[in-house]
Amino acid sequence: MLRLWKDHLRDHPKHELISKFLLCAGKRALAALFPYKCLVCGRYIRFRPQPVTSVSPTVEQLLSLLFCPACLETGVNPIESPLCTRCGKPFASRTGSDHPCSDCFYGSNPTHDRIGRIRAFGNYDALLKESIHLLKYGKKTSLARPLGRLMFQTFQRNFVTGPLHVIVPVPLHRKRLVKRGFNQAYLLIHEFSRLFKAWAGVVPGWTVSNRLLFRSRNTLSQTGFDKAGRAENIKGAFRVKHPAKVKGKRIMLTDDVYTTGATATEAASTLFKAGARSVDLLVLARA
Ligand SMILES: [Zn+2]
Ligand SMILES: [Zn+2]
Repeated sequence: MLRLWKDHLRDHPKHELISKFLLCAGKRALAALFPYKCLVCGRYIRFRPQPVTSVSPTVEQLLSLLFCPACLETGVNPIESPLCTRCGKPFASRTGSDHPCSDCFYGSNPTHDRIGRIRAFGNYDALLKESIHLLKYGKKTSLARPLGRLMFQTFQRNFVTGPLHVIVPVPLHRKRLVKRGFNQAYLLIHEFSRLFKAWAGVVPGWTVSNRLLFRSRNTLSQTGFDKAGRAENIKGAFRVKHPAKVKGKRIMLTDDVYTTGATATEAASTLFKAGARSVDLLVLARA
């Protein structure tokens, strides 16, 4: 019955308009029955239909069902040009074009030799920092979808045309995965293939894999360590199970936050030892 009705609707000359109207009416009805509450302050949110386009929805369009207008005003600060073409660090001067920063140019950047390009959607502050904390520690997994879409926009801008074979989220140790119930680095990108197909109209030439890289040692949380301490804490923590699947591959690592780069550098180093051809890094936020 529903199928027949769907087919009938598809044949209607204004089917797109009718579908949008029905979707909006459905969302309104759901919002009346189960009102949305702001994830930060707990205030009820008045339903304001936002047209989420499949190309590049704004931060407000994506987050307006999860945060009240007052909390949304805290803002998200996207990282924009000019930035370093290698490590992605934004320059203090807000004019000019992208170019290598002095650390990358003179080869004194510790991530320089290992990771090709690093890109982040935004600064790890304000509402983006709050959102990542809510996702990771507050287990508000409803945030993964809109935050993942923001990350996908950075992917589109920087990596979509480049040669890429596989996207690998930085893994958690099995014990931490069981305790948390999810790996946020994977949750943020698990829709990338679907988003790519909706945008480009073809299936991507790359795959997403959370079975290439494992965390063999359950390290202490990196929070609280300084730069050298973080590198020491994470040393030897990763393992590639099947090097043949990594050999010669162009890989993009993904994670939620980039702080000192110690975790990503160690993960990249493990992939290079297994024969990876190149490793880039995409994160949601950069501290
Ligand atoms: Zn609020
Ligand atoms: Zn740089």
